[in-house]
Amino acid sequence: MNERLSRRDVLQKSAALGVLAVVGTAACGKSEPKGPSCSDTTSLTAADAQVRTQLAYVDRSLEPGKVCSGCQQFLPAAPDTCGACKILKGPISPNGNCKSFLAKTT
Ligand code: SF4
Repeated sequence: MNERLSRRDVLQKSAALGVLAVVGTAACGKSEPKGPSCSDTTSLTAADAQVRTQLAYVDRSLEPGKVCSGCQQFLPAAPDTCGACKILKGPISPNGNCKSFLAKTT
């Protein structure tokens, strides 16, 4: 039996391994931080909902280290529940963020 691999065989097997690596990385990627969903604004007035939009509030911060739980404006509630904010109305996730983030000093 001839065990030699042709250049084509090597390239094909390398490509297959590359695909597996990409798929495996995606499947085992970092999971999102756990936390409550605090995006229900149905109880807010249109004006209050608009302020949330203008300040670009998101339930999951896209900026590492800039989360509502680390903001001076955050009013926490029980663990794993939505808190509140001094300047935005409605439920606020501890993992959220908006343009008015102001880091706690200590
Ligand atoms: S000001 Fe923005 S970042 Fe700070 S607690 Fe309120 S919503 Fe979160």
